[in-house]
Amino acid sequence: MLEITEITCINLKDGLFLKPEYLIHEYISGNKFRKLRYNLLMAKEKGFTKLLTFGGAYSNHVVATAAAGKAFNFETIGIIRGDELATKPLNSSLEYAEKCGMQLKFISRKEYQERHNSKFIDGLKSAFGDFYFIPEGGTNALAVKGCEEILSKEDAEFELICCPVGTGGTIAGIINSSSSHQTVLGFSALKGNFLDKEIAQWTEKNNWELITDYHFGGYAKINSELISFINRFKTDYGIPLDPLYTGKMMYGIVDMMNSGKIDRSTKVLAIHTGGLQGIDGMNFRLKNMNLPQLI
Ligand SMILES: *Cc1c(COP(=O)(O)O)cnc(C)c1O
Repeated sequence: MLEITEITCINLKDGLFLKPEYLIHEYISGNKFRKLRYNLLMAKEKGFTKLLTFGGAYSNHVVATAAAGKAFNFETIGIIRGDELATKPLNSSLEYAEKCGMQLKFISRKEYQERHNSKFIDGLKSAFGDFYFIPEGGTNALAVKGCEEILSKEDAEFELICCPVGTGGTIAGIINSSSSHQTVLGFSALKGNFLDKEIAQWTEKNNWELITDYHFGGYAKINSELISFINRFKTDYGIPLDPLYTGKMMYGIVDMMNSGKIDRSTKVLAIHTGGLQGIDGMNFRLKNMNLPQLI
């Protein structure tokens, strides 16, 4: 159960390679599969039949948990940020999660702030029965362990490894399994300076750096320049990028290569962490914002 076949890197252009982790699964998005893997094995081992997790309206992690629950026989409960969402038609991500059998509970943004509070989480047990708890974004020690399997031995030839950063679990796993001659660059999908600390709590190494210049205004923010970049990338390479994470990372890598911040002679590996299920939801939002669609 939960085996992942080896993912082969793609040569994009002079020195830039991409690891297409999105090929792991259509809905259990690349890094989310890695993050869930050891958690689900642990849940099975301990005899849990239910998973409970937290996330926002378009969360790749919520969708991945719902799909994994269906595939590996767990009941799933998603606690979703925003009680106003309960009265609206569900967006494509939540609709899919519900179709997988996930029970959705919408809570207010204020209540959602309690998501790290163990008393609050224990309180949910009286409503939903006993469950295996997976935190927001899926990040915990077992998730980091799963992400330590993203890099393979052959990847030692790359000098620079790039990946997008949300909660920091994925990059921490990559850092842990990187060699000391490699540098890991994280491209933050969020505004703010708190992520360095988040990452540092999961790794003891320091061959990494967080780049905060390419969040485009913050989490899930987008503009027409990013849309054209993502669409052009798909036309040029046949590779889809998601608008929240991999699109912003790849925009950043190309920009840093063009400006010389990444030297032309450097061998770079970009980790495509998946997230493609979010494109439909973003296109729905883009229509309302009068912006062009992602192709
Ligand atoms: C969740 C997600 C990330 C961020 O991963 P973290 O471990 O939270 O940093 C990156 N890329 C994609 C596609 C994601 O869905």
